[in-house]
Amino acid sequence: MSFLKEIDPEIYELIEGETERQEYQLEMIASENLASRAVMEAEGSPLMNKYAEGYPKARYYGGCEFVDEVERIAIERLKLLFGAEYANVQPHSGTQANMAVFFAILNPGDTILSMNLSHGGHLSHGAPVNFSGKFYKIVHYGVSRETERLDYEEIRKIALSERPKLIIAGASAYPRTIDFEAFYQIAQEVRAFLMVDMAHIAGLVAAGIHPSPIPYADFVTSTTHKTLRGPRGGFILCKEKWGKLIDKVVFPGMQGGPHMNIIAAKAVCFQEALLPEFKSYQQQIVKNAQVIAKVFKEEGFRVVSGGTDNHLVLIDVSSKGLTGAQAEILLEEAGITVNKNAIPFDPLPPKITSGIRIGTPAITTRGLKEKEVEEVAHWMCEILKNPENEALRKDVRKKVRELCERFPFYKR
Ligand SMILES: *Cc1c(COP(=O)(O)O)cnc(C)c1O
Repeated sequence: MSFLKEIDPEIYELIEGETERQEYQLEMIASENLASRAVMEAEGSPLMNKYAEGYPKARYYGGCEFVDEVERIAIERLKLLFGAEYANVQPHSGTQANMAVFFAILNPGDTILSMNLSHGGHLSHGAPVNFSGKFYKIVHYGVSRETERLDYEEIRKIALSERPKLIIAGASAYPRTIDFEAFYQIAQEVRAFLMVDMAHIAGLVAAGIHPSPIPYADFVTSTTHKTLRGPRGGFILCKEKWGKLIDKVVFPGMQGGPHMNIIAAKAVCFQEALLPEFKSYQQQIVKNAQVIAKVFKEEGFRVVSGGTDNHLVLIDVSSKGLTGAQAEILLEEAGITVNKNAIPFDPLPPKITSGIRIGTPAITTRGLKEKEVEEVAHWMCEILKNPENEALRKDVRKKVRELCERFPFYKR
């Protein structure tokens, strides 16, 4: 980054700082990952300079012969990856992808049935502070108090009484497999549209480790930067018959020019996801998450829903007298980044919480397997069981750094 260093040393230094942070800390935020250098090269390429309002072969700007090909390839790879009929790769984020679907099929005031935010749903599924909560009538389903899993009979009852126009399946903090067929049956029964937001689990779905929503959902939305390990961005998949409408809503409906550098990076990400090693990568993500759940249980922590089927684990740290906020800070001091997270029926407010969410996509990308992850999980438990022990956190900080040096990412 010699140009940047010379022109803007202040920003250069901050990027260096963040790069070091990513290199020498264990990134265990479930929604994050470390995209490949190939993805980053595409994102940082001259494609960022190109305006290309419209779609391939139907642009409002000249000079699109190369970016047209890039977008066409991104769309083809994405359809192949998930077995979808139609794909739009232009949404700038997951929230934008959801917005496009809402704008395509809903009118203001229509009812959406989605997962309770405090049980793992997403901001864009109807939070009062988000456009989704302001424009639409939101009703929620949650997890059952006993099993902390989705209760499909309960969801059906709510759907029957509320008669939503759209049902959303998908979550940001749900550690279990989602039964998309059950959602489909409910949506059919109440004649609602079904949208699956697979942002968190897209990588697992691509690898065939989580059942695919494609046969069941009218619309599938996602981000590209979580388990899928691409650039920050979103996409929409749908049946051919909805394609034209979705395209129109994304542009010119709610976005201007697509970010062609990001679309190129998405294409690279989809290519990587089509390789056989992506499947073993995703399998390892799940194995690693299951090791974390196992160790925390052995160490006497309450694991929400008793374990995990995917890339994340929710831990109830109140069982050890901590809040989620405290736990997040304690682990951060030791070089382990997680986020505080509400647990189902959490008595504490969202800025404090009783839980932490731990994810394995990024540590698996850098090569950690069961053996290392078991060790890391023990360090985490020790820290959380001994919040007074600052020396312990310093010691773990050193061990984390050594581990990161053994499994480098940028400094390979
Ligand atoms: C992360 C996430 C999104 C959207 O993310 P952006 O930050 O808008 O890209 C949407 N839905 C779910 C379920 C998510 O977890």
